[in-house]
Amino acid sequence: MDNNMKSILKIHAEQTKKNLEDRQFECTIVEDEKEALELIKSMVKVNDVVSVGGSQTLFETGVIEWLENNQDITYLDRYHAEDPHQVFHSAFNADVYLTSTNALTMDGKLVNVDGNGNRVAAMIYGPKKVIVLTGINKLVKDEAAAVERIKTIAAPINCVRLNKQTPCTKTGHCMDCLSASRICASSVTQTRSQTKGRIHVILMMQEAGY
Ligand code: SF4
Repeated sequence: MDNNMKSILKIHAEQTKKNLEDRQFECTIVEDEKEALELIKSMVKVNDVVSVGGSQTLFETGVIEWLENNQDITYLDRYHAEDPHQVFHSAFNADVYLTSTNALTMDGKLVNVDGNGNRVAAMIYGPKKVIVLTGINKLVKDEAAAVERIKTIAAPINCVRLNKQTPCTKTGHCMDCLSASRICASSVTQTRSQTKGRIHVILMMQEAGY
């Protein structure tokens, strides 16, 4: 990333961190995915039960690979499960839930859409600790900008990634469809962490995911 851009984005990141903390979220700003992975490794304890929300960011940053090869934890693996819905249910009792977010606002809110709803449900309630790993590309000014980001970037690209036959994969932006394949059945804005520190946002000064 260009140094001039980085210096401004760092200011945005610091403002976001303060606003997240005011809302009882924890936040750590890290330089890159390497630092993020080391931090996650330090936060997940031996014998922890760990689950994940669907996330390109977790794949790109090596988190999924680390979980798959970690013998010290119980990884509830949705990707290789015979019945993923059973894993979605079990995730509510996990010690740690790792996910990303569709958007993070500078005033400290997490904005997400979800198809099944398992990801946003677990972010709201259940797992003892939720770690939200996000690239700086998902940082936007406010909730309106978050919705715009989701409708024009996050949801259409994820529909392509998941091979969904939804209108946005052809138009490139949300058509507010009623398709059975839609990934946007639920829209959730988390404005606070109800339990202080339960949700920990790791904000990377690099791009990741959609
Ligand atoms: S509501 Fe439908 S068209 Fe809009 S982003 Fe979601 S899946 Fe795509």
